[in-house]
Amino acid sequence: MIRKKPLTLFFATLAAGLAPCLGFAFDVAATRAAAEAQANKDASQLFALYKDLHEHPELGYQEKRTAALLAKEMRALGFTVTEGVGKTGIVALYKNGAGPVVLVRTDIDALPIQEETGLPYASHVKQITRTGRESFVFHGCGHDTHMATWVGTARALLAMKDRWHGTLMFIGQPAEEGGNGAKAMIDDGLFTRFPRPDFAFGLHNSADPPGVYYKPGVASSSVDDFQIVFHGRSSHGSRPNMGIDPVLMAARFAVDVQAVISREKDPAAFGVIAVGSIDSGPLGNGTPDKATVRGATRAQDTEVREKLLAGIQRTAKAEADMAGAPAPPDFDLRRGYTMIVNDAALTERTAAVFRTAFGADTHELLVPETGSEDFSEYGVAGVPSFYFRIGAYDPQRVAEAKQKGEVLPVHHSSKYLPAAQEVIRTGTQAMTLAVVNVMQTK
Ligand SMILES: [Zn+2]
Ligand SMILES: [Zn+2]
Repeated sequence: MIRKKPLTLFFATLAAGLAPCLGFAFDVAATRAAAEAQANKDASQLFALYKDLHEHPELGYQEKRTAALLAKEMRALGFTVTEGVGKTGIVALYKNGAGPVVLVRTDIDALPIQEETGLPYASHVKQITRTGRESFVFHGCGHDTHMATWVGTARALLAMKDRWHGTLMFIGQPAEEGGNGAKAMIDDGLFTRFPRPDFAFGLHNSADPPGVYYKPGVASSSVDDFQIVFHGRSSHGSRPNMGIDPVLMAARFAVDVQAVISREKDPAAFGVIAVGSIDSGPLGNGTPDKATVRGATRAQDTEVREKLLAGIQRTAKAEADMAGAPAPPDFDLRRGYTMIVNDAALTERTAAVFRTAFGADTHELLVPETGSEDFSEYGVAGVPSFYFRIGAYDPQRVAEAKQKGEVLPVHHSSKYLPAAQEVIRTGTQAMTLAVVNVMQTK
């Protein structure tokens, strides 16, 4: 269920009519038509690239084949390409006279999931995950559609070089799925070894009907992972009085910590504390000496984020105190991604062009995504950034599912299948317009 502001035809028409007053010094309709023509011309080539990437997915920091394929595409277009930035990332630069430097990011990694889409070009790839296990690999987040769109955008921009000036900085970012790939690229000199961008754009396919979706301001949630080890004293199952039970501490913690959500944070503010794992070993008939709890928090506001993390630590300590634990719990926090904050001026500027180009298919969202994304890092590094989504559900599939009472698979499901051609076609037009808008020559 998406919550969005309705955009009536009246406003769409008004926006189109007001286009010159809104400061568009370029012809939005003609630029869109040129991008669409190029995307149509490249359609079979881009779809073939998508299928190749889909069939050969790679996990974060293992995207060697993927990066090489993208580097080859960009070199063929005349970009200067540097590989191995942030381990497996690539930076492709194209200078077209003086002007702003504009970053266009695609993520390039896949997930440790066994694909169940039944596609003829389904993945059978296996790789070793970060935790050392062998797993099937699948583009279950649709980053393959982003890569094809990224190449499509580069092609469209090069076909209309007279409409913009400046430097294109196309980056293929590794390890978006929990691997801090954006930070790895920044730490490896993304903004010091290469020109510092004036603007950054990123997109994601979305489990929504076709269209362009964006959220001004905070657009995604933060995510932080935590692990707590409760210490007890082991004992035989028949003599619990001889032990101190860490399983009870963990179980109480899992329940009590939800009061931080219901009673400590602002009820109107978004926040999640997920406890996904309680592990105290294989023995059922006994008291173990420790229990490990793993979980993650999400927030859309820095104050809430810190409140949740403090509440977790306080609750864990209180459970251990109450049980008379021999030692306080060990708390291990791994800070993950912060919220994406879409730059206000860049959002207004880009959304105005989207509304003119796509009319009622442009959707301003009222609430941020509950998911998280490390596109936020480019904004944190001080680059005005804008992140938007492209609806990737085929309306016919949505209608059929509704009729049958079925729920369509979403991102990270083994059956998630975005309408790739739609993402590539609309994504290429939207991204091309966003870029030309900030690099326009006329
Ligand atoms: Zn994902
Ligand atoms: Zn993703």
